[in-house]
Amino acid sequence: MIESNKLWEQTLEEFKKDANSSDTVELLSEINKVYKFENNVIYMIVPNALTKFRIEKFYNNKLNEIVQKLTNRSVKFKFILEEEVKEEETPPLLIKDQINKRPLRAEYTFANFETGESNRFAFISAMKVAETPETLYNPLYIFGDVGLGKTHLMMAIGNYILDNNPNKNIVYTSAQEFTEEYFLATSTKKGRDNIEKFYEKYRSADVLLVDDIQFLEGKQGTQEEFFKVFEYLHGLNKQIVITSDRSSNELKNMMLRLKSRFNWGLSVDIKHPDKKLRLNILRRKLSFLIENPKSVPEEVLEIIADNFTSNIRDLEGALRRYVTYCVSLNIPFTVENVYTALDRLIPEKEQDQNKDKELTQKKNFDKVKKEVAKYFQLSVSDLESNSRKQQVAYARQMAIYIIKKVYNPVLKAIGDSFGGRDHATISHSIDRIESMMSKNSMVKTDFEILTKNIKEN
Ligand code: ADP
Ligand code: MG
Repeated sequence: MIESNKLWEQTLEEFKKDANSSDTVELLSEINKVYKFENNVIYMIVPNALTKFRIEKFYNNKLNEIVQKLTNRSVKFKFILEEEVKEEETPPLLIKDQINKRPLRAEYTFANFETGESNRFAFISAMKVAETPETLYNPLYIFGDVGLGKTHLMMAIGNYILDNNPNKNIVYTSAQEFTEEYFLATSTKKGRDNIEKFYEKYRSADVLLVDDIQFLEGKQGTQEEFFKVFEYLHGLNKQIVITSDRSSNELKNMMLRLKSRFNWGLSVDIKHPDKKLRLNILRRKLSFLIENPKSVPEEVLEIIADNFTSNIRDLEGALRRYVTYCVSLNIPFTVENVYTALDRLIPEKEQDQNKDKELTQKKNFDKVKKEVAKYFQLSVSDLESNSRKQQVAYARQMAIYIIKKVYNPVLKAIGDSFGGRDHATISHSIDRIESMMSKNSMVKTDFEILTKNIKEN
């Protein structure tokens, strides 16, 4: 299974290299379950009939071509629906097990994880756990708000260990899934068989990954069961990794015994990403989404990063939506389009915050304009006008340059405040002053006096 999984991943990688639509890539990325490998045919499970139809009609040949090149054999992919799997005659229990085994998401790797202040310690700890065969920190407990990369890091540990040792039995589950499995095992007639299988599944783990442990809050029976599993594996020195949306001390209605176990190992948290990290994540994501990431202006990424600050899933979602919007309407990747594409996604609270930000920004810009106008004995409206008189143009460019240096806003904001000048004009003004300053010390003096006045007022 692991081999077939790898083949599928490699085939996808190759396919992505000359795929021309991010939709296709996305469609195929959703497929990650191998049903079986038989007579040189790899059977992949697809979520629905439409997907099956699209793949068979448009991509199956290409995918076969790639996998044949990769393996030098006449391997083929076949795509089947889960219902069809159930209809096959092979013993149903066995198949069901394989299907239910939730694979780790292939793209959740350390390599695909951007680090910044907010997650560096969690990242390093996860790496350490993955790299070290002895259980240094057991359990590793990762906590933080939703959408900040807990599941990603946890699966990265699993992927890393599997890459280096494919024989390791990595068991991934969520606390919810664990609860459901336990319930099924104990509430059906065939309970005894099922409970044996339940124990077998968890006790055979070399590494146990349990996502969203907070789901066990208040569920005493399941907590007991989990406690047993935990004790068993911990006693055998098997690595356990747990994620949660809160620290173990903040878990309510959770057995003390269990909470204290969570404190045995290492507890690390992931905080909200700063802007630099948000931008890095957007850049990386963009390079997966489109072939020429440079075609999206930096300012667009800035706007998205400024508006989606607290959840990386939402941040990525906004970027994806923008890209899909422009690609499907066949319109250019412009700043204007980011506002149209994301209009309803930008939460109201953030819109309000943006209004506040705009107000402060306006005040700052006005201050610069006033100081610059006074210094050159002009009026503020001269600066905002279209006048091309040398003195006026120079003062205007200086004001623009100072705003950029002192407050570093997005260029569109500067343009708007200078009578709707466009991005290129603003950028040109900045470059011009920059180059004049390097040649002419008077320009430098103007700049220094002005910034001093502005900072003091
Ligand atoms: P959580 O489990 O904390 O709710 P996830 O692990 O599901 O969050 O992350 C949400 C999304 O954000 C995923 O697509 C994940 O790949 C992405 N993500 C989170 N943190 C990072 C990061 N540091 N670098 C790249 N992608 C990230
Ligand atoms: Mg998660």
